[in-house]
Amino acid sequence: MTLKELGIKDTAVITKVGGEGALRQHFLDMGVIPGAEVTVVKFAPMGDPVELMIHGYKLTLRLDDAAKIEVRPAKSQSVKEEIARKKKKREHPGLGEGGKFHPKGSGDPLPDGTLLTFALVGNQNSGKTTLFNRLTGTNQHVGNFPGVTVDRKDGPIQEHKNTLVTDLPGIYSMSPYSSEEIVSRNFVLDEKPRAIINIVDATNVGRNLYLTMQLLEMGIPMVVALNMMDEVVGNGGSIDVNAMEELLGVPVLPISASKNEGVAELVDHAIHVAHYQEKPQRQDFCDESDHGGAVHRCLHAIAHLIEDHARRADIPVRFAASKVIEGDPLIISQLGLDQNETETMEHIVRQMENERGLDRSAAIADMRYSFIQRVCDETVTKPKESRERLRSEKIDRYLTGKYTAIPFFIGIMGLVFWLTFSVIGAWLQGLLETGIDALSGIADEAMTAAGVNEVIHGLIIDGIFAGVGSVLSFLPIIVTLFFFLSMLEDSGYIARVAFFMDKLLRRIGLSGRSIVPMLIGFGCTVPAVMATRTLPSERDRKMTILLTPFMSCTAKVPIYSFFIAAFFPQYGWLIMTGLYLLGILTAIVIAYFYRGTMFRGKAAPFVMELPDYRMPGARNVAQLLWEKAKDFLQRAFSIIMIATIVVWFLQSFDFTFNLVSDSQSSILAMISGLVAPIMRPIGLGDWRICTSLISGFMAKESVVSTIQILFGGSISSVMAPITAATLLVFSLLYTPCVAAVASIKREMGMKWAVNVVIWQCIIAWIVAFIVRLVLITVI
Ligand code: GDP
Ligand code: MG
Repeated sequence: MTLKELGIKDTAVITKVGGEGALRQHFLDMGVIPGAEVTVVKFAPMGDPVELMIHGYKLTLRLDDAAKIEVRPAKSQSVKEEIARKKKKREHPGLGEGGKFHPKGSGDPLPDGTLLTFALVGNQNSGKTTLFNRLTGTNQHVGNFPGVTVDRKDGPIQEHKNTLVTDLPGIYSMSPYSSEEIVSRNFVLDEKPRAIINIVDATNVGRNLYLTMQLLEMGIPMVVALNMMDEVVGNGGSIDVNAMEELLGVPVLPISASKNEGVAELVDHAIHVAHYQEKPQRQDFCDESDHGGAVHRCLHAIAHLIEDHARRADIPVRFAASKVIEGDPLIISQLGLDQNETETMEHIVRQMENERGLDRSAAIADMRYSFIQRVCDETVTKPKESRERLRSEKIDRYLTGKYTAIPFFIGIMGLVFWLTFSVIGAWLQGLLETGIDALSGIADEAMTAAGVNEVIHGLIIDGIFAGVGSVLSFLPIIVTLFFFLSMLEDSGYIARVAFFMDKLLRRIGLSGRSIVPMLIGFGCTVPAVMATRTLPSERDRKMTILLTPFMSCTAKVPIYSFFIAAFFPQYGWLIMTGLYLLGILTAIVIAYFYRGTMFRGKAAPFVMELPDYRMPGARNVAQLLWEKAKDFLQRAFSIIMIATIVVWFLQSFDFTFNLVSDSQSSILAMISGLVAPIMRPIGLGDWRICTSLISGFMAKESVVSTIQILFGGSISSVMAPITAATLLVFSLLYTPCVAAVASIKREMGMKWAVNVVIWQCIIAWIVAFIVRLVLITVI
């Protein structure tokens, strides 16, 4: 029987894990190992993927992958276990209490003034970024979705000189599965931080310690930060911190990153272990008596065999030994074993496989999970039922329910856009516009009164105020949209969207995980492109990168709003929605095309953890909004302002640098005239439109500011509505802005970046042509 055949609420014990290569290792690392107990929670609304409960957390798998896992039915055992555990008496150390494992102030410290580097390593959603923000006082984006931290970020610890912490992408194990996981693994392996701060989600110690054990094998000084203790304690659970310290051999500090509890103590310990270079006291987790000790003997034999090679390759011996047994090709090749040694090694491994009755990777995973089981049994008193879990289940009944998931999704997204564009954002925008107008009026009067030179006067009022001002007034809308997107992400909802959209996305050749970059793309393409690093397959990643620019980013919103207000105020909503949908539709068509041509093959497997819903922290959200606002203001006053001034200058002078009376004979008109013939068939041949589109390449908002300068006051009297509509469609689809192209180049290389620019202009031209044709015939 396989996992696929189980029904809802069925419980079974895994007997065999099929699949191969990296995917299989990923299964094992996520706790899908022989002997583990799984319960089916639910199927996605479209019947696939399936949500499972394993080791006390929620995992999603596709049915195809579930079919590779063999199980035998079982009665639920967890109830029995819980009762047995409750009998034992436990101490209940509070937050920040508990024994210190290591003697303070002994040993052989690093010289004073050495830079202490720390790596912040932990599972996804364990609160690394929240802690990082606490430690450094900066504001990195925090989210409750696997993989929001896509690049490493560093900063010094507040009030501690000579320190540097690095926030790394979340990983589940030291065998990398997606490209961002490689970032984390390589950082720890190659850059050799002075110490590791391993952040462990205390509500889910069972799964989180799997990574901890591999980190301990690295032999790098380390402290464990038990995060989310507020939830554990709040639910009546507790963790025997002292016992855990003894079992793990490193200091364990209970903290709550979001409530800032225990963080100061954590810092003290971290700096101490780094300064005195106190290595973990324990690296040996295999039990001599476990299943006859086959794994134990194998590990030790191999550790001896490869010791000299590991030392030469500068890889920790214990870590190398377990990786060799798992069959990690990278580590094996780095060790450079000779033929004899390889054969001996293979022989030892085979012997172990026979004795243990499990294959190599499963045997190691099993050894780790048995140790973890022991740690949990001895230290963790689980609450009866976590409030957060119960709450999540209640919410999920609707948000991922069979019939309710999609309607809720559409409803929620609709609500977000409605609130952004017609309620909150629009109201704030009105306020800001009034302010800018008033300011512009005052400046105008003041300059007239002072008799300022006419050219400068023109530059400031018709150039800067009109141009930058028109863009600036969109700040509220952009911040509001980011606010909602980050709330969705932070709460854990977007992970659910990935879960129930997987089947749909697979039709166009992608996996559910691709929905995340796409949704972020509605905010801005740059972070969206970076977020694709969480996707485990290169093929999915490339395809997603190429599709995200079709999502209407917030920089395009000013263009939409501007033309809608000028031409079609009565159809505002319809056109706004239409543009968003047109972008999505184009992406779908193109995805079909890609799937049939450049990107044949299957979407990557979908193995993902579903975190509990969490209330987004006010501090985190506020920080993010401030960042976005700052970012936007910087753009408005740098790129957009420069573009505005350049455009104003070029349209005011001719090639002899004389002020022109009619901008038709200006330098700008000449330059744009070169592009005009290409744009004429779609009715955008006017040099002013061409100019605005060119400046839009710098920043999309510039399309509006340029049009404002070039057309002057009322645009609706000089441009036909059909032209406006075509221009909207063209702006939606044509090349992404420079920043986005640069991020695409970083991810995929120059060739692709150039292709994207050309390719999207062609697509935009074709679609605009069709739309125009349709409009002309209809109207
Ligand atoms: P990362 O993926 O490891 O970087 O995790 P994040 O820092 O993005 O946090 C994931 C989620 O956990 C966010 O919704 C945080 O608000 C929440 N969170 C982080 N630390 C704590 C904590 O100590 N207690 C509680 N209750 N929630 C936390
Ligand atoms: Mg993070």
